[in-house]
This record gives sequence, structure tokens and C-alpha cells, in this order.
Amino acid sequence: MKTILVTGGAGFIGSHTCLCLTEKNYQLIVVDSNINSTNKSLEKIKYMNPNSKIIFAKGDIRDLSFMRKVFNNARENKSPIEAVIHFAGLKSVGESIANPLMYWDSNVCGSINLLKIMCEFKCHTIIFSSSATIYGNTKTNPITENEPINPTNPYGFTKAAIETILKGIFGSSESSWRIANLRYFNPIGAHKSGLIGEDPLGEPNNIFPILCKVVQGKHKELRIFGNDWPTFDGTGVRDYIHVMDLAEAHISSLEFLIENKPQYLELNIGTGIGTSVLELVKTFESVNKCKIPYVFCNRRIGDVANAVADNKKIISLLNWVPKRNIKDMCKDGWKWQSLNPKGFN
Ligand code: NAD
Ligand code: UDP
Repeated sequence: MKTILVTGGAGFIGSHTCLCLTEKNYQLIVVDSNINSTNKSLEKIKYMNPNSKIIFAKGDIRDLSFMRKVFNNARENKSPIEAVIHFAGLKSVGESIANPLMYWDSNVCGSINLLKIMCEFKCHTIIFSSSATIYGNTKTNPITENEPINPTNPYGFTKAAIETILKGIFGSSESSWRIANLRYFNPIGAHKSGLIGEDPLGEPNNIFPILCKVVQGKHKELRIFGNDWPTFDGTGVRDYIHVMDLAEAHISSLEFLIENKPQYLELNIGTGIGTSVLELVKTFESVNKCKIPYVFCNRRIGDVANAVADNKKIISLLNWVPKRNIKDMCKDGWKWQSLNPKGFN
């Protein structure tokens, strides 16, 4: 049984991925500071899969001695960490503009720290949570992995910087490293049980949790940022991907890296299908039989009109295809929100 370290595993995407990993019989060590999560998500995973083996270590990836202890304990317990799935980090574009240093420190310094310890323990396999935001304003859509990296905000710059560091590490020696940068498009939805889902602490910025708050009556209306974009209905188009498809992409990537020669991968993870804000609203309303009041507002600074993944590379390379559509995302995401209006609390 292989031991995988999952940083940020108590969070939204991390918890769904942990569930999939336990179903594949991996033994997990989850490191999370809980700055944006609660480890109740991990308790739910144990409830959903009573055979799961998860050790939770609360701490910050920037704490070198803590991270050394995590790797050392695993080695002493005869289950050394074979690979790392690295979710830990801060992810709000707006917060990163307001407080860029906090983002560089948490995301970049945190990743450097993690990589130092991985080197120390000769653990050379890592899957990194990158983001489509690193592409910025692209000339073409769908976006391939060859598109220039051109972030427009500090959050995007931190993700691009971590990718650059990983590329440098891979290129530094006759590499023994196995690295996958997974560039997520727009993850939404939840596990179909409604037992785990997205539970952002503080005010969410992303459309799906905001939309759920409107339906719950916590916000009066959805503010749609712009109806004058150069898209078919004037609202922003994104490639929404079900969080379970995304979680499964991590399993496929991990298996691919472990089974193949050392290599460096950059992979878009999306469905390849664009959905406008208005289409998302209409689908949510029809699937969940509700009404979403909305108003059109000015464009949000830093937004792009259209961001859709060209996902041919991941589909041709890995044993993975997205299986769930936008209706499933709206149904499952709302099931979690409606069953757990206060999140994990
Ligand atoms: P999340 O906030 O739910 O999860 C991140 C987890 O990392 C949280 O549990 C948080 O407590 C933990 N964490 C943060 N800083 C830490 C640190 N220094 N040390 C230890 N733990 C720390 O976010 P998520 O949506 O699950 O995103 C996971 C990863 O995917 C992030 O790196 C994010 O940037 C990236 N990503 C997310 C999206 C998205 O829309 N959700 C899109 C693209 C990329
Ligand atoms: N959006 C919106 N109202 C909101 C939040 C988002 O109209 O309250 C729009 C946003 O302009 C974009 C889409 O929804 O077109 C997705 O935004 P999100 O922040 O979820 O993802 P990102 O912009 O980072 O891709």
C-alpha cells in the first residue's frame, strides 16, 4: 500500500481527491493548516469509506521542521511517502491583489519548503494544483498547454512561479523527478452523496458558491459581471468541471507518473465545453427547480471573456475523460449546499 502526502487535503478539491485515493487503497497523510478548511471533511471521508487510512497532521507547509517530522514519521513507520499531491495554498484573486506578499509567501515559499523536504527525503513525485489563470488573456480558445503564460494577477503569478520552479528542478539533473502541473479550469459541484463539498471560510468570490447563497436567500441577487463581453450572450464563458472528474484526474495522473519514466507534464483539466454565466444560471434553475434573481453589473477587473480548455492532451495521455456534465455539477453542488447550509458546521 503506497503512502501519498496530500497537502491542503482538507479543502474543497483536496477532500474529494482524498476520497478517490482511499477508494484506490492508497494510505494518506494529509497536511493542512486549516486556514481555509476544517478537518471535518476528512471525518466525512472516513465515514464514507470506513476502510480508509488517513493520518491528519495539522500544520503549515512553510514550517520546515514540521514538514521534516511528517516525512520522518512516515519513514520510521515503514511507509515512506512515495508521492505528493500539492493542493495547499491560497486561491482568491481579489485577496491576492489586496495582499500580494501573503500570496507569494504562502504559495511560493510554501512550495519551495515542501520541495526542499522532498529533496531531503528523495521523494521525487509531485502533482501540483496549477490553474488556468496562468494563461491570462489568451488570443485563442480553446486554450492549449502551449499558450504563453501570461498571468494578470498576483495569484496567477504565484502559480506560474511554482510551475517555473518545478520545471527548473526537473531540468536540474539527469532528472529522477516525476512532475505534473495540472492546470484546473473552473471546478464546481460536489460528491453526489451531498456529504462533502465546497465550504469556503469567509466570503466566496467564485460564482458557484455565490449562486448557492442567492438561492439560500443569503444574498438578494446574483451580480453578473458584464453582459457586454464578446461572447454569444454577452456574459463570461468558462469551462466548468465537476470536482469529482477533477479528483479522478489526480488519480490518473498519479498512476501515470508512478508507472512511467521520470517526466515533466503540463496538463489542462477541463471538459472542453464553454458555459456562459447566463447558461449556468438557467441550468441551475431548471435542474434544481428554483429561481435565481440576477442583475447585470460592470465587468470585474481582471476578468477575461472566455476561458475554455483544450483537453486533448490529458485525454490522449491518461486514462481519463470527464464524465459529468453541467447539469450534474449544478445538481450535486446544490445537493451539498442545501443539505449543509452551514457547510461542515
Ligand atoms: P481550498 O482553500 O478549499 O483548499 C486549500 C487547502 O490548503 C485548505 O484546506 C487550506 O486550509 C490549506 N492551506 C492553505 N495554505 C496552507 C499552508 N500554507 N499550509 C498548509 N495548508 C494550507 O481550495 P481548493 O479549491 O480546494 O483549491 C486547492 C488548490 O487548487 C489550490 O492550490 C488552488 O489554488 C488550486 N486551484 C483551485 C481552483 C478553484 O477554483 N477551486 C482553480 C484552480 C486552481
Ligand atoms: N461571475 C459573476 N458574478 C459573480 C462571480 C463571478 O458574474 O458574483 C462571473 C465571472 O465574471 C466569470 C464567471 O462568473 O465570468 C466565473 O467566475 P469565477 O470567479 O467563478 O471564476 P474565474 O473568473 O476565476 O474563472
